Amino acid sequence: VDSVPTVPAVVGAQLRVPLVTGGSIEYANLDHGASAPCLTAVRDAVNELLPWYASVHRGAGFASQVCTRVYEGARDVLRRFVGARRTDSVIFTRNTTDSLNLLATALPADTSVVVFDTEHHAALLPWAGDRVRTLGIPADPQDAVRLLDAALADCADGPKLAVLTGASNVTGEVWPVAELARVARRHGARTVLDAAQLAPHRPVRIAELGVDHVVLSGHKLYAPFGAGALIGRDDWLDAAEPYLAGGGATRSVPDTGEIDWNTGPERHEAGSPNTVGVHALATACAALADHADAITGHEELLLQRLRRGLRGVPGLRELSLFGAEHDRVGVVGFIVDGHDPGLIAAALAAEHGIGVRDGLFCAHRAVRHLLAGSGEQRAVRISLGLGTTVEHVDRIVRALRGLVAYGPQWRYEQVDGRWAP
Ligand code: PMP
Repeated sequence: VDSVPTVPAVVGAQLRVPLVTGGSIEYANLDHGASAPCLTAVRDAVNELLPWYASVHRGAGFASQVCTRVYEGARDVLRRFVGARRTDSVIFTRNTTDSLNLLATALPADTSVVVFDTEHHAALLPWAGDRVRTLGIPADPQDAVRLLDAALADCADGPKLAVLTGASNVTGEVWPVAELARVARRHGARTVLDAAQLAPHRPVRIAELGVDHVVLSGHKLYAPFGAGALIGRDDWLDAAEPYLAGGGATRSVPDTGEIDWNTGPERHEAGSPNTVGVHALATACAALADHADAITGHEELLLQRLRRGLRGVPGLRELSLFGAEHDRVGVVGFIVDGHDPGLIAAALAAEHGIGVRDGLFCAHRAVRHLLAGSGEQRAVRISLGLGTTVEHVDRIVRALRGLVAYGPQWRYEQVDGRWAP
């Protein structure tokens, strides 16, 4: 058995789930890419904060001061987590989707936006107007660089933004972000990096990658409670209309006339902030940063073991944009000849206590491209993380071999579009 490095612990590691065949089994959560389980360190930090939970910013009481310090201090933790430049701002949001929509509302008039068709819908869809250009689907990383270069050369004068992703949520493949950002800079374009899938697995360094903005989600970084962040340059954001109008976003509201909106993160964070969520996010980021090497080692070992095992499952085809040898994080999308992906996912859950996801993963264009010619409309995705063990990996490989050899051991029928035993 591979010796897996010690990584931060998650809650729910010993959860037992019922099996359709009777009895129960330890849950194998292989769906970290959707939402990761909570770190025990995050749970403890939240428990510690909850008794002090009070209003932020405006309260004079001691508990309010504690919460304000926690909330504002979290910005520095996030800044360190992504290696931000001194001048970068950290705006707290609900998640990656929210961060990208915020940025989309803050673009200067006439900004040209270029975005690959492979993006997750959160990064593909927020941009509106006739200056949005989609770049198709690159054949390989160098093709991605060429497509971006050509599209930016062709953009009208004025501000430009290139939307980049760190790692695909369908194939786990890592994109050549630094190279793409270099090309963007050469054309005077800014970049935003969707780090939702990369940050849980690898260090993300804004300054080294040379990107202008980074967005991420706490719930994929082992923190629950719906907090995310938009980190990066603040000039567009300070000049934009507030994302949400309301308390906290204003310096003063006169009886008549112009409202004096804040600059800085507060401008876009109107309403009572998610103090507990932000604390959870910052605690998770600090823990991940402290164990970066162990996390990479743990996932690399498990991913190699998984892929080795999957290669032995007859008819299983791993999805890949850039080829099987390309660098990837712990995400594997696949199909199995002659086996319905939804039925595979249902049988893995019901008969083996394994949680995976099937579908198009909010990246319809990418998945359709990857499935072209296969006859399948959906795929299955395994995503590894800190809650994954060697036993989980071995269990899913064994389960898939059994499914392919003998079919599901139970009868399944479709209920509301999903297979159920
Ligand atoms: N981008 C990528 C690459 C993702 O994997 C996801 C989540 N699946 C998102 C964006 C959206 O994240 P959220 O749902 O937390 O807004």
